[in-house]
Amino acid sequence: MFHIADPKDIIDGKITDVYFERTLKVLKAKGINPVVKAEFIAKNFPENWPWALFAGFEEAIYLMRHLPIKVRSMKEGTVFYPFEPVMEIEGNYQDFCVYETAILGLICQASGVATKATRLKKLAGDRLVVSFGARRMHPILAPMIERNAYIGGCDGVAVVKSGELIGEDPMGTVPHALIICFGSTVEAMKAFDEVLEPKFKRVALIDTFLDEKFECLNVAEALGNKLFAVRFDTPASRRGDFAKILRECRWELDMRGYRHVQFFASGGIKEEDLPLLNPLVDGYGIGTSISNARVVDFAMDIIAVEGKPFAKRGKWSGSKRVLRCPKCNQRDIVPNDNVTYTCSCSEVFEDILIPVLDYGQYLIEIEPASKLRERVLNNINRLTL
Ligand SMILES: [Zn+2]
Repeated sequence: MFHIADPKDIIDGKITDVYFERTLKVLKAKGINPVVKAEFIAKNFPENWPWALFAGFEEAIYLMRHLPIKVRSMKEGTVFYPFEPVMEIEGNYQDFCVYETAILGLICQASGVATKATRLKKLAGDRLVVSFGARRMHPILAPMIERNAYIGGCDGVAVVKSGELIGEDPMGTVPHALIICFGSTVEAMKAFDEVLEPKFKRVALIDTFLDEKFECLNVAEALGNKLFAVRFDTPASRRGDFAKILRECRWELDMRGYRHVQFFASGGIKEEDLPLLNPLVDGYGIGTSISNARVVDFAMDIIAVEGKPFAKRGKWSGSKRVLRCPKCNQRDIVPNDNVTYTCSCSEVFEDILIPVLDYGQYLIEIEPASKLRERVLNNINRLTL
């Protein structure tokens, strides 16, 4: 059997830290059940990220629609900063007490993956970035991870089921196994070309047996104009100066008229590699960096009880608004009042923490992943890493 929870376990509140279950028992025994407001914030981000991308909302709201609560939230795919509440729940505490663990789990990991994808896409610029990291995580999570990689800005995902979830064809080249089964890179690529429909781009993996330079030329000669790209997955033990290997291969291909052949790089690609490789690379397959991205450490904290501001040490009490200037992007956190706030640039601030759920009823439309991704990419130039 697989060691996983059933989705029903999550909805039934069984994926909970036991102290919440015990808390609920005590509250029930004593008849204590205040109306509270609780917010989700991160005080800082991993790896000194200056901002993060809010994700996991669609799953979190799917869980919370089963509860008698009201929720305000940022939209999925919104950039946020430390101390900005991304969600706020209002309800009787007993009604959502045991769901804190699951709600946090849904947004912490998704936001980490999405943020890492956005950072890598920003570094890659117009170059293709494809999520290759499903194999590093429990397979039950693959669609979740790749959806968040995609909304963060990845151009494609590798896993078939993930493609179905986001409504895009999955992307992939050839594995080393195909080439090993044929015993020859050229023979494997010729067979790929014979068997598979033309819509699948011919991308040859050229690090299996021989030196990259000679293998590049071998496949270019064998496939000619049909060769779309070569993928360098050079093992770390042979990599040396990866950029130099790519530069040499580019030179040799260009010398022989194969300028159309693009370069894809994969294999342990990290943020710091992109500035060095970008001048030589047309696309990246990025695995572990994305699928094993650090999580955003959100916490859920009660900030109001029976309408009165009330919070633990180290947290700002009271319900809040998060404001953003649509013109200059300046931001502010203010008490949850009805005042109209104006930015120093004289534009009126807009609220980005908005009502999304009211006792099971959605107050906003759930947007498809492609629309969320588009919004992220439209804003990517404003961000600094
Ligand atoms: Zn402004």
